[in-house]
Amino acid sequence: MGEKTPDHLPDRRMKQDCSGYHERISETSASAEAGRMLRSQEPMKKESTVSVEQGDITALDCECIVNAANKSLLGGGGVDGAIHRAAGPELLKECRTLGGCETGKAKITRGYHLPAEWVIHTVGPIYSGKEKDAELLADCYRNSLELAKGYSIHRIAFPAISTGVYGYPLKEAAAVALSAVRNWLDDNRDYFMEVIFCCFNQQAYDIYQSGIAESRTRKGV
Ligand code: ADP
Repeated sequence: MGEKTPDHLPDRRMKQDCSGYHERISETSASAEAGRMLRSQEPMKKESTVSVEQGDITALDCECIVNAANKSLLGGGGVDGAIHRAAGPELLKECRTLGGCETGKAKITRGYHLPAEWVIHTVGPIYSGKEKDAELLADCYRNSLELAKGYSIHRIAFPAISTGVYGYPLKEAAAVALSAVRNWLDDNRDYFMEVIFCCFNQQAYDIYQSGIAESRTRKGV
C-alpha cells in the first residue's frame, strides 16, 4: 500500500461527471428532500447512481476502477493486462505482496500511472453453467463495493467481469452485476456511491443499458 491512508484522502467524488444513463437509487423525491433540508438545516444527501459508459476502463478518470483479475493477481490478458500495462510495473510489484485472491473476493492497490487513484482486483468465476457461478460473480461486485466503502471511495467503475476469457454469457453476467450492485446500494443507502459499468464494446453497452431500463420499468420509475 502507498504512503497515504484513507483518512488523508481528498474528496474526489466530483472529479468527472458521468455521461450516459443514470439510475437514481434513492426513492426519496427531490422536493421532499429539499423540504426536509430546509426544516433541519442539514446538508442534502446525494443519491447514489448507476450508469453505463462505453470505452477502455484504463482511460477512465474515475476514483477507482475494478480489475477482472485472476487468482494470482500477477496480471494476465484482457482487461487485466490492459490495466497492468497502463498502471506500470509498480502495480505488479504491489500485487506481488498481496498473496493472490480467491474467486469472488477483492483486494485493493494504488493505480500508479492510471488516471484512477485505486484499483480493486477481483476474481470472477470461470463460467461452468452451475448456480454457483452467479453467486460468485455477485460476490465480486459486493466485495468490491464493500472494500471501496472501507477506503471512502465514492466513484467506482466495473468492467464486465468474467465475460471475456472466463466465458460468462454477457446478458446473464449483466443481470447478475446489475442486481448485485442495486442490492448493495439498497443496503447502503447512507453511503453515496457512483457506480459505472464500463463496457468495452457496443454489444455490452446495449445489454447493460437495456438491463437498467428493464429494472426501471419494474420499479415504475
Ligand atoms: P475475464 O477473465 O474475467 O473474463 P477478460 O479481461 O477476459 O476477463 O474480460 C472481461 C471483460 O472485460 C470482457 O467483456 C472484455 O470485453 C472487457 N475488456 C477487455 N479489455 C477492456 C478494457 N480495456 N476496458 C474495459 N473492458 C475491457
